[in-house]
Amino acid sequence: MAFFDDVKKFGKNITEKGKDVIEITKLNSQISTEKDKIKDFYVKIGEQVYKAYKAGESSVYDETCAQIKEIELKIEELSNKVLELKNASKCSNCGAEVTKDTAFCPKCGNKIING
Ligand SMILES: [Zn+2]
Repeated sequence: MAFFDDVKKFGKNITEKGKDVIEITKLNSQISTEKDKIKDFYVKIGEQVYKAYKAGESSVYDETCAQIKEIELKIEELSNKVLELKNASKCSNCGAEVTKDTAFCPKCGNKIING
């Protein structure tokens, strides 16, 4: 009955291979979850470095931080354009968006100086 034994063996191999595929998929998704965690930490590290840079602490990342600062300035410029188009301005105290005809910030009560 060697033939049937071979068939059994063959069948068993297929199911085990199927299990392996499921296991591999599981493991791969676990790996990518763990990799995402590392990415979150990378972001945190970057934030901490940039905060230190803003606070005036010098580090080997100064050049990269300067690039971030440049982008921040560009973002500010762009959002100022958006405010202009919306005919709005920003509260100098809390940064809330206010319409230009508003005298006081509805959020913090700060006097709005329209330029
Ligand atoms: Zn305000």
